[in-house]
Amino acid sequence: MATFKDFRNNVKPNWCPGCGDFSIQAAIQRAAASCGLEPDQLAVISGIGCSGRISGYIHAYGMHSIHGRALPIAQGVKLANRDLTVIASGGDGDGFAIGMGHTIHAIRRNINITYIVMDNQIYGLTKGQTSPRSAEGFVTKSTPEGSIESTLSPLELALSAGATFVAQSFSSDIKQLTALIEAGIKHEGFSIINVFSPCVTFNKVNTYEWFKDHIVNLDSFPEYDSSNRISAMTKLMETDGLVTGLIYQDNSRKSYENQISGFQDTPLAHQELQLTREQFDNL
Ligand code: SF4
Ligand code: MG
Repeated sequence: MATFKDFRNNVKPNWCPGCGDFSIQAAIQRAAASCGLEPDQLAVISGIGCSGRISGYIHAYGMHSIHGRALPIAQGVKLANRDLTVIASGGDGDGFAIGMGHTIHAIRRNINITYIVMDNQIYGLTKGQTSPRSAEGFVTKSTPEGSIESTLSPLELALSAGATFVAQSFSSDIKQLTALIEAGIKHEGFSIINVFSPCVTFNKVNTYEWFKDHIVNLDSFPEYDSSNRISAMTKLMETDGLVTGLIYQDNSRKSYENQISGFQDTPLAHQELQLTREQFDNL
């Protein structure tokens, strides 16, 4: 049986020392092993940004795709080969700005994949501009007088869009993060896990210390009912989105693919393509 070390490769990450993304990489590797997966049963599809490099650092199938488009590709991979466990990942700019249309519709669609957002509240790869997750008043090169726009609340949007698994974690809490990724993989439907992942180079406001001072961890509230959507929305609003843990899970809804007739037959990836001469000529 594979251990987390089997999901390592020999590519050295070029993230800045201290970047929160290292822990997310480790948590994915640990969660994959805990789920009993082998590297050839996992596909990690990433977008563009510092976070997008993650697919190259995990020994599994993967694709470092295009900006904001990790989700369409990840959903296609899952529909073509349901035997694969599919993880999509990317940053807050990738998923909540250019890719937001895909994010909302992937949530509604409820295909059985896990989406991990590496949320550093800034654009890191392009050297520090305001993202949809940046706070109002946040000063960057693109908003030298402070951001005027309101901060996006992606998990409130996810709940409104009919999400069946909503979680949030912090890259310093690798134990919780690993458990949530494992739960997301096991959930029969679309799982969104937003992870506070500090950018130590360009975001000098939302630091590790800042998150430690502000996060409300649901693991300390055993009475919290994660099956109640109204409680989930209330908790997000009460904490200004700074709550971590399993926020909401609905096991009553079937995944998209399990409602498609014939999907349980041979996966597309295992079918032989048999075309007549005429079909071939018309391709
Ligand atoms: Fe991480 Fe920020 Fe460095 Fe990018 S720029 S690798 S997000 S610390
Ligand atoms: Mg970002």
